[in-house]
Amino acid sequence: MAVVEREVVQVERPAVPEVEPEARRERLPLGPIKTIHVYWLAGMSCDGCTISVAGATNPGIEGLLAGAVPAMPKVILHHPVLSAEAGAEFVRSFTEAWEGKLGAPYVVVFEGSVPDERIAARTGGYFCAMGVEAAAGGGSAQPVPTATWLRRLSPGAAATIAIGTCATWGGIPSAEGNPTGAMSVMDFLGRDYRSAFGLPVINIPGCAPQGDNFTETVFAVLLFLQGLGPLPTFDDLGRPAWLFRDTVHQGCTRAGFYEEGLFAERYGDPECLVEIGCWGPVVNCNIVQRGAINHMGGCMRAGGVCIGCTMPGFPDKFSPFYKTPPGAIISTFAAKSVGGVVRRLRRLSNRADNREHRWDVLGEVPSGWARVSAQTTADRVVQFFYNVWQHKGSKKPGRPAAERDRFWGGDRPGVRRDYLDGSAAREGTDDRR
Ligand code: SF4
Repeated sequence: MAVVEREVVQVERPAVPEVEPEARRERLPLGPIKTIHVYWLAGMSCDGCTISVAGATNPGIEGLLAGAVPAMPKVILHHPVLSAEAGAEFVRSFTEAWEGKLGAPYVVVFEGSVPDERIAARTGGYFCAMGVEAAAGGGSAQPVPTATWLRRLSPGAAATIAIGTCATWGGIPSAEGNPTGAMSVMDFLGRDYRSAFGLPVINIPGCAPQGDNFTETVFAVLLFLQGLGPLPTFDDLGRPAWLFRDTVHQGCTRAGFYEEGLFAERYGDPECLVEIGCWGPVVNCNIVQRGAINHMGGCMRAGGVCIGCTMPGFPDKFSPFYKTPPGAIISTFAAKSVGGVVRRLRRLSNRADNREHRWDVLGEVPSGWARVSAQTTADRVVQFFYNVWQHKGSKKPGRPAAERDRFWGGDRPGVRRDYLDGSAAREGTDDRR
């Protein structure tokens, strides 16, 4: 019987890159840029980032490519899927950029995680490659790993942008026990990496990321590189701070249910999803505020729980998915206790606010849709004290009796019984018809 030898994967220590990026080139000055090349490289990716960027609307990718976005340079995109060129013709521009013969600044965008190609090389293979080159010392042409392209192009790039969670934090390909040694762009290039404009790696996470998060960040960075704007604020991990400062929960359309202690028991329920596995309270992401595409969709809006896909700890620290997070058990207990009281008080106010003042005076609600109860005596008592408190130190709606008589006086048409508030007209006009 044939014996299959398997390599034992050491999971205790993640892979460490073998080589540093190539030596840094001179810093480029900031200034007007007419054209900028974008080199899109793909490592261990599903191409979801490409698809989401193609759906960006604000600004849209087509506007950037057409040079139609005000203050933006024209973008020339070199993308392994979207570019019209193929084969050696496609790869030539990458080589020119590496050799400094491009004559224009460029940005590197990396999608997918960076595999440890040393593992594949042991058996003469590769994980992710683009183009072929003759092997050193002659021999047949060999595929060039995209990790090699990243190492070559990143030092001369105006900026290196990691898009999607695989590129920003390693993502699913780098989950515990993975056999490829996959890592993020930041892990691959190291903490000392700086682009030709002096920027560390810019990280736009998400699986898939929102296309608008990417184009908006590129837009802001290009404004900076043009010398037309300040360097956008990035957080400690290189995320655009204005997009990833808040948690999903803080912007969630269901957060009001959480506050009132109301939780979904199954998918399709409208309440907060934390008890069926939502990690939104501890995840930095703007998916609910921004939506997925063109302000539409987004996980919780569409009924899905947050599984933490924008986070460095994803996926290991958020699994098993769809199970109540342990921390949520404590917080939902507190929310149910306090929220239950708050909710009942709000229902009282809500019922009162759903009645016109006129209906309160008449004691009936003329709805043809249902029998809506008017104010009860208990409602009146609560409303009285609530109004006193609400208008303390300010003017109540309406007019005081004396002013009312003076203002309306006999000029108010009709007779007293025509008016609900009894403020009609002087006595002398009562019998006027
Ligand atoms: Fe927070 Fe998730 Fe509930 Fe939304 S669904 S309120 S993010 S816990």
